[in-house]
Amino acid sequence: MGNWATGVTVVTSQGPRGPHGMTANAFLSVSLEPPLVLISVGHTNESHAIIKGSRRFAVSLLSDAQEPLAVTFATRRPDPENAFLGVPYTLSPAGLPWLQGALGCLECELQAEVEAQDHTLFLGRVCALREGGAGPALIYFRSSYTAPR
Ligand SMILES: Cc1cc2nc3c(=O)[nH]c(=O)nc-3n(C[C@H](O)[C@H](O)[C@H](O)COP(=O)(O)OP(=O)(O)OC[C@H]3O[C@@H](n4cnc5c(N)ncnc54)[C@H](O)[C@@H]3O)c2cc1C
Repeated sequence: MGNWATGVTVVTSQGPRGPHGMTANAFLSVSLEPPLVLISVGHTNESHAIIKGSRRFAVSLLSDAQEPLAVTFATRRPDPENAFLGVPYTLSPAGLPWLQGALGCLECELQAEVEAQDHTLFLGRVCALREGGAGPALIYFRSSYTAPR
């Protein structure tokens, strides 16, 4: 799968301890009418329990300038309450973090869940979105971040 180039997102949620984020590239546009997207989240990730409980998630599509955020949210935070310290974000209509500077942001209501061994596929109905900057996307390929040439 390392030979499959993807964009990079940060999937955010609101848990009992506040805003939460997780870098994710298993993200897919599924249907236009209604607008549905899919994410795949590992069972042991904290995001998994939060999304299951809150039944909402948001997705920020990262620009190539946001590699540091991709690194931050792919690492287990020692202090989850302060995971967003210094991270510029606004809130979606339902109060989920949308990262500032992202190429686009979605807010989704959980529509269905499919168990897939050690991951769960969360199908989300897009209920709000914000268009972002025009800059190039952040790309993940062979375990490295890059930008389109
Ligand atoms: C480019 C990229 C794309 C990615 N795409 C996806 C994706 O699509 N889906 C996906 O599920 N993940 C993906 N990941 C991995 C994900 O970003 C990280 O696992 C991230 O830390 C998850 O955040 P979290 O807060 O939800 O989970 P965390 O709470 O940070 O848990 C992350 C991992 O830490 C382990 N852990 C839990 N508690 C402890 C502890 N006390 N000590 C040590 N380890 C512990 C968990 O078992 C889990 O495997 C991706 C990573 C990268 C770099």
